[in-house]
Amino acid sequence: MRQTHLKPQFVEFIPDQLDDGVLYISERFRTCSHKCCCGCGDEVVLPLSPAEWQLSRDGDFVSLWPSVGNWDYPCRSHYVIRRNQVRWAASMTEHQIRRVKQRDEVALRLQINANNTTRATGAVGTSAPSISADASGAPSGISLSNTPSLSIWKWIRSLWGSGSG
Ligand SMILES: [Zn+2]
Repeated sequence: MRQTHLKPQFVEFIPDQLDDGVLYISERFRTCSHKCCCGCGDEVVLPLSPAEWQLSRDGDFVSLWPSVGNWDYPCRSHYVIRRNQVRWAASMTEHQIRRVKQRDEVALRLQINANNTTRATGAVGTSAPSISADASGAPSGISLSNTPSLSIWKWIRSLWGSGSG
């Protein structure tokens, strides 16, 4: 059955067994997890980082952006979590999914490269947002459906500018 709401639960560790309708959020490990809102039972893990998902909190309400698109799951769910509400979005065509995936791969690769450069040289200032190691372990089934914000591209470019040499 489709969920219409998710209840946020802030935890240190994501439990092995997830309850339906609960969004588990680990700020320490910068990740959140829930069972797919379509009711298929698949677990959806979303890394929280500037180039992946961003969680905003307003009292007891949480919102996630961009949308959750489980393209590689049989259900192909696509929804937005806004103020604990699950807003169902239209499912995408094969063509759209392919394009989103390609873009995500490029974005993630750039981010990982940039991150590696930062670590290797240590030459980059502390203003750059740090990225969790989870990025490389993100399940391939989950894609961003939104272009990373321009500031991230600017940031990546600035890393290249100062980091290569
Ligand atoms: Zn599902």
